[in-house]
Amino acid sequence: MCRALDEPVRAFPVEQAGPAHVATLKTFDPPLRALEGRRLAGAERRAKRLLFPTEDGELVLLVHLMAAGRLRYLLAGEEAPKTPAFRLRFQGGAQLVLTEPGAKKRAGVWLLTPEDAERELEHLGPEALGIGPQRLGEILARDRRRLHSLLRDQRALAGIGRAWANEILHAARLSPYALSQDVTPEEAERLAEAIESELERGLELRERGAKDAKVYRVHGKLGQPCHVCGTPIARVDFEEHTIFYCPECQTGGRVLKDRRLSRLLR
Ligand SMILES: [Zn+2]
Repeated sequence: MCRALDEPVRAFPVEQAGPAHVATLKTFDPPLRALEGRRLAGAERRAKRLLFPTEDGELVLLVHLMAAGRLRYLLAGEEAPKTPAFRLRFQGGAQLVLTEPGAKKRAGVWLLTPEDAERELEHLGPEALGIGPQRLGEILARDRRRLHSLLRDQRALAGIGRAWANEILHAARLSPYALSQDVTPEEAERLAEAIESELERGLELRERGAKDAKVYRVHGKLGQPCHVCGTPIARVDFEEHTIFYCPECQTGGRVLKDRRLSRLLR
């Protein structure tokens, strides 16, 4: 998505910034209008955030899509959604449009100074995409944590949400409850490969506009056959999250116990 936006957003200066849904716009100073008349310098990706710095280096528009947000560049005259969560209109009529289905608005838009944008991003760990087995091994060795929780931690590794943690661990055939420091080098390699292939798969499908049901193979698929072995996908509550996994592929047939009730099993 970032790749597809980088060129077009630079073509014309911003003519009108907004409207933005009240829950979507997270900042009010500088005002969104401050973008008007400025040209964007392109699009960059940082974990799930898209950054659009202005050409003059004074402002950064930051967009976080969360799970369901979608950002599209529409050419002049192309049909546009009537009530987008956020919209930038460029001179000449093209638009950058953020939409998010459903009533809950989770995606966010921030207009920041470069210094504030830097502060906003500094707590993020290295990008998950492209991490490779060696750096991943270092991150795994640093703390003794359950894999599902570690993968989701943006400070450790940026860019993996709970749904993709499920998909990645399944692809790597690793238990969500396995402890990071117990992961063998061979398993770490498998995990690095799974991070790469699953995130790439997700990016590609989303760029084509695929819906969640098509994108996920494990997440939210309770009781449905595992696409590898046919065993029904199981579910367990962990911390504030629900984990989906295949007992055959990932936990040697063991059923994971709810961590909120039992601390005995993993
Ligand atoms: Zn399976």
